[in-house]
Amino acid sequence: MEDLFNYREDREAYSAARMRALEDLLIKKGIITDRTVDTVLDFFETRMGPFNGAKIVARAWIDAAFKERLVADAPSAIAELALPEGMAGAEGEHVRAVANAPGLHNLILCTLCSCYPWPVLGLPPYWYKDPTFRSRAAREPRAVLKEFGLEIPESVEVKIWDSSAQVRWFVVPERPAGTESLSEAELETLVTPEAMMGVAIAKAA
Ligand code: FE
Repeated sequence: MEDLFNYREDREAYSAARMRALEDLLIKKGIITDRTVDTVLDFFETRMGPFNGAKIVARAWIDAAFKERLVADAPSAIAELALPEGMAGAEGEHVRAVANAPGLHNLILCTLCSCYPWPVLGLPPYWYKDPTFRSRAAREPRAVLKEFGLEIPESVEVKIWDSSAQVRWFVVPERPAGTESLSEAELETLVTPEAMMGVAIAKAA
């Protein structure tokens, strides 16, 4: 069993090298062009990213009815907002939201691979795809969250949401205290990708 979680130390560099080799091969075979990967990355860096998620969360903070609709049916609620075209595609149809609350902290992961709500959060960071995070976060979430600098008291329940090809979770963090006078745009700046993954809370005002 020990070896089950004994992943190679250089796995990030190894994955990157394998990805480059795969891209080269696909270009050589004429399946993609040398611009294809850059175009896809650009789309997820400039149009589909955590800046969309921040807008969704800030709206949920100021509009309780919207938050209810978001948790009940995220794609429909997200469609109410003026966000870039494409929110409903590229896995947007599978997006679901879970809201933190007093006594409840949510954490998202994909135990199988790297499923992630792309339109809301963009592309996942390496650690989200890393087998150690995926396995440890499911087995010992409190210990992993502590390593992220987030200590969850025993009195607070931690719920894990396992994303898949059918469901892509994101977290609506709690609105920080003392933010009553902030504008919606100011609130957006407090919503980090990490907070929407559940490995952090929203920034303090
Ligand atoms: Fe996955």
